[in-house]
Amino acid sequence: MKIKTLITTAALAASMLAASSVSAAQITYQFLNQTHNEIRNWAGYTNPRVYYDRAVCSSDMTAYACGQNIQLGTRFLQQIENSYPLASKFVFAHEWGHTIQFKYNIYSRAPYQELQVDCVGGAFTYYGQNNLGYRGLFQSAQGLAYAIGGDPTHGTGSQRAYYTRQGYNTGGNLVSCF
Ligand SMILES: [Zn+2]
Repeated sequence: MKIKTLITTAALAASMLAASSVSAAQITYQFLNQTHNEIRNWAGYTNPRVYYDRAVCSSDMTAYACGQNIQLGTRFLQQIENSYPLASKFVFAHEWGHTIQFKYNIYSRAPYQELQVDCVGGAFTYYGQNNLGYRGLFQSAQGLAYAIGGDPTHGTGSQRAYYTRQGYNTGGNLVSCF
């Protein structure tokens, strides 16, 4: 078991070194707890309660924020990971951005309410790449943002990708998104 873990870790490290390939994460509670800590240490401003696979905000088990709660569906995030490695961290940071909007009563019309927190997610990708060593995080997040765009609430794929990049270009300073 231990040897297998070491081999897996070595393989992961090797793949992280290859510039173009980043491995999809296994969405475990441990992985999500780690991401929670990373975002909290980076963002501050709010300290939401985070629930996994629990219908606290919606019966739809994707990703939601309501008040100072964040709800994350592990199956949903794993599907994202499989196509866009590490982008689940961007989704988490996006929801965190909503808790900042709610706490400070920052409301915009659609789709800017959503695009603002794509910017927050994008700002986290800068921090993740440069301070946490998550190579390829920005590219993965931008790819996801583009792919899942298209509804009136969240904006077009192009808008979502653009605001994600704007966030990255803040150099990790989420305040610039507001
Ligand atoms: Zn949102």
